[in-house]
Amino acid sequence: MLKFKDNYPMSQITTLQIGGPAKKFVKVKTEEELIEAIKYAKDQLMSYLIIGGGSNLLVSDEGIDCLVIKNEVSGIEETHLRGEEMLLHLGGVMLSVKSGTLLQDFVDYTIENEFSGLQKLTGIPGTVGGAVYGNAGAYGQTISDHIISVVILSEAKNITTLSKEECQFNYRDSIFKQNHDIILEVTFKLESGDPEALQQEVKEILAKRLVKYPPGIKCPGSFFKNIVAETLPKDILDRIQPEKIVYGKLPAGVLLEAVRAKGKLLDGIEISPNHANLFINTGGGTAKAFCELAKQYAQKVKEKFGITLEPEVQLINLPLLN
Ligand SMILES: Cc1cc2nc3c(=O)[nH]c(=O)nc-3n(C[C@H](O)[C@H](O)[C@H](O)COP(=O)(O)OP(=O)(O)OC[C@H]3O[C@@H](n4cnc5c(N)ncnc54)[C@H](O)[C@@H]3O)c2cc1C
Repeated sequence: MLKFKDNYPMSQITTLQIGGPAKKFVKVKTEEELIEAIKYAKDQLMSYLIIGGGSNLLVSDEGIDCLVIKNEVSGIEETHLRGEEMLLHLGGVMLSVKSGTLLQDFVDYTIENEFSGLQKLTGIPGTVGGAVYGNAGAYGQTISDHIISVVILSEAKNITTLSKEECQFNYRDSIFKQNHDIILEVTFKLESGDPEALQQEVKEILAKRLVKYPPGIKCPGSFFKNIVAETLPKDILDRIQPEKIVYGKLPAGVLLEAVRAKGKLLDGIEISPNHANLFINTGGGTAKAFCELAKQYAQKVKEKFGITLEPEVQLINLPLLN
């Protein structure tokens, strides 16, 4: 039996701890419950928003007039291949993961079972569904690298399987940002890895992440997308020191640092003194202040470099910044 709550504060379910009330809120633990929640929204002529860990959201202070569905449908299964499929995917393992599984739980599972390919995603909060939606990544690895297929509940309410190509993955982008499809399950193919090397990589990455994201930090991850270097006009690229380009991207933090964003404060929102692309709620911060500060520094970057920064974080019931 689903437990719907009225006027549920989004600040309680986002890592930034900002956001006014959702008109209705419900947690779902099975796909049947998820489908039932959507049916409820349709019957009530209400729109709905599916969320995972709320770790990539900036929700308006006024909240949202819809049903927010928190996806906790979790589980990991090894897929057994037969016939032609077996020939297509020789070697390695196929793992099917429910979209509400915590990404960290899935990454831990792959490490424990000595599979390589997702270890660099260690430390990213949120769910597998949220990570696939935004094609999350870190240290040169992205969640889509080893995806084979994605099972979705389409806008027409059919359950369908999409191939990786049909998901149109790109840097922090996927087809799911253009439609209202719900990611139900994701199948990955991973290769065996050397357990000691995997553990070592994880250890090093966690140590780096601990410096950037101290425990308890209230933020939605990096706010702006980095810029794919090859999309930049030559005259702009010529002004950037080549060593600033990392994994083919110009970090937005480099541009923000150049316009002295680090450490700036506005009404409870601080731009991290360590990382200029990290906007933190220091307590009592609002979406209004967050947007104001982000807009100010995006404009400075535009004026200095001619580059338009785009938010990586999903803005809910908020105007675009530009
Ligand atoms: C401390 C910190 C560090 C971070 N580090 C990184 C990093 O290194 N790399 C990186 O890429 N990101 C990073 N992030 C951002 C965030 O963790 C990722 O984007 C994460 O994958 C979001 O998952 P989520 O479940 O929290 O999604 P949510 O924030 O809940 O939702 C994000 C979007 O996904 C959609 N969505 C969620 N689930 C589904 C589904 N099942 N079907 C369809 N749409 C869905 C939502 O509607 C929403 O639009 C970080 C965030 C924090 C707070």
